[in-house]
Parts: sequence; C-alpha cells; structure tokens
Amino acid sequence: MISYKAVCLNCKQTFDLIEGTQKYREYKRDRKKKFWCDACEGGIVDAARKGFINRHMS
Ligand SMILES: [Zn+2]
Repeated sequence: MISYKAVCLNCKQTFDLIEGTQKYREYKRDRKKKFWCDACEGGIVDAARKGFINRHMS
C-alpha cells in the first residue's frame, strides 16, 4: 500500500495519506498542500454540525 506522511496542521501529529483517499489525491496534485488529520477533521465536522444545529434551533 502506498501512502504519504503528512503533518496535521492542527495537532501536529504525523499521519498517513493512504492511496485512494481524497487527501492522497489532493496531495498528489499539490505536494505543498497541508492537511488536518482525520481526528481533527472529524472534530471540525462535529463542531460545524453543532454550530449549524445551534443556528437553526434558536
Ligand atoms: Zn490533527
């Protein structure tokens, strides 16, 4: 399996960009591109979802 190492912009942990994933393809197109790891990205998505719900509940 081919993968690249990337450092998360948020938590600075090294994580793998695994062949076939969206991030891997983006990295192949632009080697200077920076990524968030899945855990941080998941947190952002959750926060965004909560924000969305909050905005629409009030
Ligand atoms: Zn992270």
